[in-house]
Amino acid sequence: MAWEVVIGLECHVQLKTRSKMFCGCPNSFGAEPNTHVCPVCLGLPGALPRTNARAIEYALRLGVALGCRIAPESVFARKNYFYPDSPKNYQVSQYDRPLCEGGELPIAVDGLPLAVQLTRIHCEEDAGKSFHPERHGDRRLSRVDFNRAGVPLLELVTEPVLRSPEQCSVFLTALRRLVRWLGISDGDMEKGQLRCDANVSIRPVGATTLGTKTELKNLNTIKGVERGVTAEIARQVEIVSGGGRITQATLLYDADRDRLAIMRSKEHARDYRYFPEPDLPVLRVSEAETAAARARAPELPWAREARFRDGLGLTPYDASVLTQSRELSDYLEELIAQGVSPKSASNWVSSQLLRYEGTAWRDVSDLRSRFAPPRAFATLISRVESVSVTATAAKGMLEEVMMRGADPNTLFVTGGAPAISGDAMLRPLVRAVLAEHASVADQVLAGDARPFGFLVGQVMKKSAGQAVPQEVQRLLREELAARGRS
Ligand SMILES: [Zn+2]
Repeated sequence: MAWEVVIGLECHVQLKTRSKMFCGCPNSFGAEPNTHVCPVCLGLPGALPRTNARAIEYALRLGVALGCRIAPESVFARKNYFYPDSPKNYQVSQYDRPLCEGGELPIAVDGLPLAVQLTRIHCEEDAGKSFHPERHGDRRLSRVDFNRAGVPLLELVTEPVLRSPEQCSVFLTALRRLVRWLGISDGDMEKGQLRCDANVSIRPVGATTLGTKTELKNLNTIKGVERGVTAEIARQVEIVSGGGRITQATLLYDADRDRLAIMRSKEHARDYRYFPEPDLPVLRVSEAETAAARARAPELPWAREARFRDGLGLTPYDASVLTQSRELSDYLEELIAQGVSPKSASNWVSSQLLRYEGTAWRDVSDLRSRFAPPRAFATLISRVESVSVTATAAKGMLEEVMMRGADPNTLFVTGGAPAISGDAMLRPLVRAVLAEHASVADQVLAGDARPFGFLVGQVMKKSAGQAVPQEVQRLLREELAARGRS
């Protein structure tokens, strides 16, 4: 039987606010354990939470970008559960009245557009982090770090509209790009700033009712999501094909061993005994605030990608690569504003500058300030286009700047040997090569195209690499044709 896969994702995005969701403790990663805690985030009796206004502003940014309906009034609720990393024994979340509902995130899988519908986005707080069991002498201990307890989170839930593991990883990649683009999260999955759970079920192709779903927890990398979901689909197909039934469960995917482990049978909403958080007022967002968030929204990544492709004429691949980050796409636009054609700007950035990402520069601000200031780099590109330096020489200069710390502002503008260009300069070199390699020239004339490249190489060598290969080829053809006629 053929099976259709049905997947819905629940994604958690940690917001990069300065302080936590309901108290003034710093929100920062990697501090000494249990140093960023206070009576509020430790849930001590009598402590009162206060909502972080910046976190709500960030939630609005995301909701507006995704076209969600923004609720003028939403409600924080207590989600009760006992777990060692939850010091209050409940998590402050939103339940039946979330801040954002509906909306969609546009993605493209294999070139086909897909609008992934969202159910909701709500605000909540993160739990602490447990470290299980560690050996200390002859004892085994679990430890808990509460620095993360109370860090602002957005939970974004999709409708069950995803149909393959690949769609899941494309969706997550797009979400990561968006939260970075909006400046609300670094979306670093290694640091847990973006996490994902997947609800997976299968049903016979053509069926309209949903099969029993299982929940995959803690998918911590984009590859992990794809692999975990793939493994779970295989497991479900095997059970059902053997006549068995899927039972509702929560599973953990172990990426290191590519294995699934059943963690617990799934809780139902009623197990959490939700009730409105009595210590927090209703969250009110005025129409003016929503309108202001809409007005401040930047051009969104998919819109810019479409404009790069359809408006500037970049290939779909380049348009996608160059809009991976807002900073990189801004950089490209600056080159274009300096008078470089979109096509050349895109070629130079994607084939040359990106080669040095991670070895010379780490973020686009490095590129802009140290390695390739837009004005200097635009000058270099236009010198290549006007054939005053060769592309080879320009690449050499780039190498000097990237790997040996040369100053781009002078090198790109005035550096490099002038290109040997123009018939008057090049033709003598071409004739000399044809004279030196007369038998090779005869071979080409006799119809064997293979040694043509050899002749081009010889001319380039004579010019010490300063000739423009296209001109050399043209002159060689002319000279050969002249010989053939004589
Ligand atoms: Zn605190």
